[in-house]
Amino acid sequence: MASLELEGKVVLVTGGNKGIGAEVVALLEDLGAKVAYVYRSEPGEHGSLAIQADVTSLDEMTRVVDRVEDELGPLYSVVANAGITRDSLFVKSEVDDWDEVLRTNLTGVYNTVRPVMPKLNERGEGSMVLISSVVGQQGNMGQANYAAAKAGLNGFAKTLAQEGARFNVRTNVIAPGFIETNMLAHVPDKVKEKILSTVPLGRFGKPEEIAWAAAYLVSPQASFITGAVLNINGGRYM
Ligand code: NDP
Repeated sequence: MASLELEGKVVLVTGGNKGIGAEVVALLEDLGAKVAYVYRSEPGEHGSLAIQADVTSLDEMTRVVDRVEDELGPLYSVVANAGITRDSLFVKSEVDDWDEVLRTNLTGVYNTVRPVMPKLNERGEGSMVLISSVVGQQGNMGQANYAAAKAGLNGFAKTLAQEGARFNVRTNVIAPGFIETNMLAHVPDKVKEKILSTVPLGRFGKPEEIAWAAAYLVSPQASFITGAVLNINGGRYM
C-alpha cells in the first residue's frame, strides 16, 4: 500500500504532549517515524522519547537535540509547534505578556531549529515545519502579541527555505485557523460564535486535520515544497 515514506525517520515535535502537537506525534508514530517530543507540564501518551524542556531556552533545546540524536539517531525533521496566547486589547496590554508570547512563539522556534538546521544541512536532507496561525496573516482583535509572533514566523521560514534549499533542506509553515484544542477552550463562547460566522466551512478544525498536513510536509513526498505557507482554516482566509 502506498504511504508517506516516514518509516524509521527521526522527528522532533515541540509541545507534543497535547493539542495539535500530540496529534502530530501520534500520527507520525502510526506512519512509522521515531518520534521525540518536548513537553513542559506533563508528558503525553505517544512517541518514542518524551523530554521535558522549555523552548524559551536555547541551551535546553540544544541539549534536547543532542539527546534525541543519541537515543533515536540522526534527525530528519522538526515540527516547531509549541505556542501560547496571552490575549488582551493592545491598549490594555502588558509588556510582560508581549515578551512572553514573543519569547515562546518566535524565539522559541529559533531555539528549536537553531541546533537542528546545521545538522540537516550537513547531511543534505531534511525538513522543518513551523506552526504559525491565520492570525499572523489577518491579525485578530486582542492578539497583537500573538499576531506579531506568528507573522514573524512566516518571514523566518521563507528565509530558512532560501538558505536551506542548496542543502536539500526544506522549511514550510502551516497556518491553522481555529482548531479545537485547549487554546480555543479559553476563548469566550460569544467570541467563538463570532469566529464561526467567518469560517465558510462553518466549523472549527480538528487537530488531526493539521497533523496530516504536518506529516505530509515532513515527508519526502513533499520534496518539491519549500517556503510554502499552507492555510488550513476552513476557508476563513484565502
Ligand atoms: P495547546 O495549548 O493545546 O498546546 C500548546 C503546546 O505548547 C503544549 O504542548 C504546551 O506544553 C506547549 N508549550 C507552550 N509553551 C511552551 C514552552 N515554553 N516550552 C515547551 N512547550 C511549550 O495549543 P494548540 O495545540 O492549539 O497549539 C499548538 C500550536 O498551534 C501553537 O503554536 C498555536 O499557536 C498554534 N495554533 C493553534 C490554533 C488553535 O486554534 N488551536 C490556531 C492556529 C495556530 P504544556 O501544555 O506542557 O505547557
